[in-house]
Amino acid sequence: MAREQEIREYLHTIPETGFNEHRTAAFLADALTRAGYQVTTGLGGKTGVVGILDSGVPGPVMGIRADIDALGHIIDGKPAALHSCGHDGHMAMALAAAESIIRDGLVKRGRLKIIFQPAEEIGLGAYSILESGVLDDVDYLIGQHVRPIEEAKNGQASPAMYYSACGTWEVDITGLRSHAARPHLGHNALDAAAATIAAVNAIHCDPRRSFSIKATRCLCDAGATNAIPDIAHLAFDLRAENNDTMQLLQERSQTAIEQAAAAYGCSATLTMTKFLPAAEYPEDMIALLADCIREVLGEDGLLPPLSTPGGEDFCHYVKAKPELKVGFFGLGCDLKPGLHAPDMTFDPAALTNGKNILLAAVKKILG
Ligand SMILES: [Zn+2]
Ligand SMILES: [Zn+2]
Repeated sequence: MAREQEIREYLHTIPETGFNEHRTAAFLADALTRAGYQVTTGLGGKTGVVGILDSGVPGPVMGIRADIDALGHIIDGKPAALHSCGHDGHMAMALAAAESIIRDGLVKRGRLKIIFQPAEEIGLGAYSILESGVLDDVDYLIGQHVRPIEEAKNGQASPAMYYSACGTWEVDITGLRSHAARPHLGHNALDAAAATIAAVNAIHCDPRRSFSIKATRCLCDAGATNAIPDIAHLAFDLRAENNDTMQLLQERSQTAIEQAAAAYGCSATLTMTKFLPAAEYPEDMIALLADCIREVLGEDGLLPPLSTPGGEDFCHYVKAKPELKVGFFGLGCDLKPGLHAPDMTFDPAALTNGKNILLAAVKKILG
């Protein structure tokens, strides 16, 4: 069995959710140390791990980033962590590549950092890596994600994944409680909540750019059905294909929610959570990854850049360090029925393709 498959099989048995990846991090740190990397754990006070390889020759610093967390599911009524987003595969590709790089002496100049990032699913892991300073001297950063079969089949890969900007408004509406027999003395938070949903559904942005906003939670219960409720909690999920549209969507939805609530005598306070910016990549990095994919999978294996309404916290790096040359490829692996499905499976043989794309990129940047 290929080394990347062996690693993935083991990591699949120890799924851990964001910032709880202790066994996973220990395994990765140990394997990197054995391979000959200089390893630091606990990045940014969390569970990230970096392995550094210094060629001793001046040159650029390249990072390979793989996310390491599993998702929290509810299976048969019980909480369960599962690698249903394929991050076990990402770790396997990066670690197997890291081992090959040393074995085959691929780093001839500059330095290589293998960065294992925690907590991608909760959108906070990238911050812990940024805080640790591990990226301060990095010039190039490459990431990857396995893709559902509708986007890419085994033997195919895309040189750029255009993730959408996304975020959640958590909304608290406050009204005034009263007896249901005297509704004119209260301000009904439930009426206000319904009005905010209708107002949000009437928001328009330029239809040539994809976006969506929708209510995903509405909790309101006065405890009695003969009382006017004074508190409601809502959540709205926002997505947009680029950061400008996201900015507009945020501004318009905030106004809509605050004013719709005010129309019913209520106030609304909004907090933006789970915010992820949209992906942006320099053209030369897309071209570099396209060359790598061509070398590994042939011309037929090279897909165009792909857009997805999903979010990815790798995009925080781009936003925080615009000078960073970032690239992010999507790997086909016959993944079914979809990412985040508890019964998600993919063809592990495809991990060798991902590893080889990473090796090709290392040869181009540090060879
Ligand atoms: Zn995911
Ligand atoms: Zn993922």
